[in-house]
Amino acid sequence: MKKDMICISCPMGCRISAEWGKENIITVTGNKCQRGDVYGKEEILSPRRVVTATLNINSSWLGRLPVMTTGTLPKEFIDSLLNKIYKFDLDVPIVRNDIIIKNISNTGIDLIATRSVRT
Ligand code: SF4
Repeated sequence: MKKDMICISCPMGCRISAEWGKENIITVTGNKCQRGDVYGKEEILSPRRVVTATLNINSSWLGRLPVMTTGTLPKEFIDSLLNKIYKFDLDVPIVRNDIIIKNISNTGIDLIATRSVRT
């Protein structure tokens, strides 16, 4: 089997292909560096993404707080994370890098604030 994709590990955006057979050995081609090889194999075995979003805060000057995960999250956990994020209503102050959700779905990945909001 073969899957064509674009490597999103850096802005170069190489077009890469992952091919695998009965032995489940995955060969990646088209990548310009080792990160593309890792990305192509991970996309077949367990695709992951960094999640960025915004959530409601009770602030007098900012309506929503930008947040992101501290690492890549397996895709199967992203919908439930977004559902939690969109139900949040946080009080300020919040300091950049504050943990909003710790250890998402036992992955060891946290959701953190990406900016500070004082009032
Ligand atoms: S293969 Fe390497 S150079 Fe190409 S997009 Fe991926 S990380 Fe960037």
